[in-house]
Amino acid sequence: MLWEDGRRSENIEDRRGISMPGGIAGGGLGVVVIALVAMFFGVDPRLILQEAGQGQVLPDRQQAVPVDPAQDKLKDFVSVVLADTEDTWGEIFEQGGARYERPKLVLFTGAVRSACGLAQSAVGPFYCPGDHRVYIDLDFYRMLEKRFGAPGEFAKAYVVAHEIGHHVQNLLGISGKVRAAMERSSRARANQLSVRQELQADCYAGIWANHANRSRHILQAGDVEAGLNAAAAIGDDRLQMQARGYVAPESFTHGSSAQRVQWFRRGLESGALSACDTFGTGRV
Ligand SMILES: [Zn+2]
Repeated sequence: MLWEDGRRSENIEDRRGISMPGGIAGGGLGVVVIALVAMFFGVDPRLILQEAGQGQVLPDRQQAVPVDPAQDKLKDFVSVVLADTEDTWGEIFEQGGARYERPKLVLFTGAVRSACGLAQSAVGPFYCPGDHRVYIDLDFYRMLEKRFGAPGEFAKAYVVAHEIGHHVQNLLGISGKVRAAMERSSRARANQLSVRQELQADCYAGIWANHANRSRHILQAGDVEAGLNAAAAIGDDRLQMQARGYVAPESFTHGSSAQRVQWFRRGLESGALSACDTFGTGRV
């Protein structure tokens, strides 16, 4: 991928280096609560945690953790991809007579507090519709490469673009409708809706790649394959097979490898929102 000369986004929130355990120990409660409240209001919580740390108020489990310097280049890369999604979706929304609201992308280590609750990095990158933020522990990329066998820059970009796809769904009012429908549905039906929503985010990721490449020629030989490989690597069937040795399609929430590849490719080849109507299609 040709990205080094790209614009850097101003919407990265770097919260790496803050250890946030799930269980909160007694002594540090006040500090952590303040830090969390500060997060919701946009104050850098590290300032509070560091200050408290100097006074030795922090219990052992809430110490600051060192940030891996090897992540510097990754952070830079993610910032360029985010900027590129801003430009792409800004144009698409403008063409439709709307304004694209740029989301924040939060980098964190281990665990993070969002409007969607406290999340461990084991859940993988996610988008929280409640605070319009994408959350990524950059360590996920190491896993994507080593454990899921999906190396390459475009694979990494696809992950960001997929989460941004959820933001677009949120802005278009799709997420709200899906959430409401899921609450009225059986478990099986809710899973099907989730799959359609995820496949649409994959398709939107493809739209980003299409536009970015047309306007800025970012793709090089092998990039598309790396993206498709990543989409396949995190299909529900493959993940379930790895985790428990069998596949239960009715429990899918993201779609099979083949479905994820197919919808990503649709967005990539067409570049059009209309190609991504996963809810209006009989079978996905
Ligand atoms: Zn998703």
